[in-house]
Amino acid sequence: MQVSTLASSIAPSATLALNERAKRLADQGQPVIHLGGGEPKNTAPHAAIVAASARLVQGDVKYSATDGTPGLKRAIIRYTEEHYGRVPAPGNVIVSSGAKQSLYNVLLSVVEPGDEVVVLAPYWVSYPEMVRLVQGHPVIVTPEDGTVVPTLDEIEDALSHQTRALILNSPNNPSGAVYPAPLVRGIVELCEERGVHLIMDDIYHRLVFDGVQAPSAYTFTDRELDESMVVVVNGISKLYGMTGFRIGWTIAPRALVEVMTNVQAQTTSCPSTVSMAAAEGALTGVQSVVENLRLSIQTLRDTMLAELRTIEGIRVERPLGTFYCLPDFGAYSRDSEVLSEMLLDRALVVTVPGKEFGAEGHLRLSYCGSTKDVVEGVRRIRWAIDPTAPNEIVIGDRKVVRDWL
Ligand code: PMP
Repeated sequence: MQVSTLASSIAPSATLALNERAKRLADQGQPVIHLGGGEPKNTAPHAAIVAASARLVQGDVKYSATDGTPGLKRAIIRYTEEHYGRVPAPGNVIVSSGAKQSLYNVLLSVVEPGDEVVVLAPYWVSYPEMVRLVQGHPVIVTPEDGTVVPTLDEIEDALSHQTRALILNSPNNPSGAVYPAPLVRGIVELCEERGVHLIMDDIYHRLVFDGVQAPSAYTFTDRELDESMVVVVNGISKLYGMTGFRIGWTIAPRALVEVMTNVQAQTTSCPSTVSMAAAEGALTGVQSVVENLRLSIQTLRDTMLAELRTIEGIRVERPLGTFYCLPDFGAYSRDSEVLSEMLLDRALVVTVPGKEFGAEGHLRLSYCGSTKDVVEGVRRIRWAIDPTAPNEIVIGDRKVVRDWL
């Protein structure tokens, strides 16, 4: 069988591979703790379920307009007005099957083969692979000082005359960092000056803690949406805990949305009409759903930080958003893949190697599960790596003795 060089060069999703292994262990009855997840555990908002059910009961499930149903687009326009202070025209909005597809469509629509796309480390695993899929070159900017946010100078140094786009994700997966306002302002100004598309992946923008707000790129430009270099991608997956509905959207200049619509028309026709009804329900229904989720995740973040402090030598930047953190395990191992595998084998805890996010020596830990998962997961990690921890532990109903430190 022959497969294309491009497709076969794309890395498998490390997170999905780990999840499969963890699931196999759990299916065998092993007491696996998942600190690798990327979705909140809440059930979908009632308003979303009612709206999707009504659509199903009517049996009216057909293709919609390629760029989304008018009802959902209206809801997105209101959402953008409320949370970004901008009122896009319907022609500035395109709905896709998840923010992932939105990002891919944006990249496919702006990147010429050989163009560079700047990706700020630590980054979400899919960005470099998506850039490669559209035949671009990812240019990774890694903070020199070992923190999780690059400086404006480092970002500027990475721009060249071949830079077509820059992807900014704040709050950030995997670090939980919120990029400070002066830095976002600097990036917006830089992109506008150089004619670089600034793709804001805002999928976690309201999952923020301690009264912090994630600065919106629109705050720092006076340009009309149609003239702006800012492209905003958002969705319902994380804020409403509706990952399986697969709905995301893009706000962009009309000329870009038109091209993205043609791309989408020839690839998926339109997102699922049932899911779009659900998304409209979520966006127009009771919004306390998001606040409740935010508050419960903030409490879990506090628990995670408190538990991590019990492990000697771990450094972690306090996450100000998302449901991830990226502790530095360099005191124990510089090889995050080996460490992550060891933790799954010995302690039955799923973590994601920092290497996948451009942060070798770190592990990404999620706190979107239960308090019990966070406490028990970190307790097992400590037992597996920290010689100062007691060397006996009970995992499930088995007493296990550590004999490798
Ligand atoms: N961007 C980031 C930073 C993410 O973490 C994710 C999901 N893991 C996505 C985009 C994709 O979201 P969706 O489910 O809407 O495709």
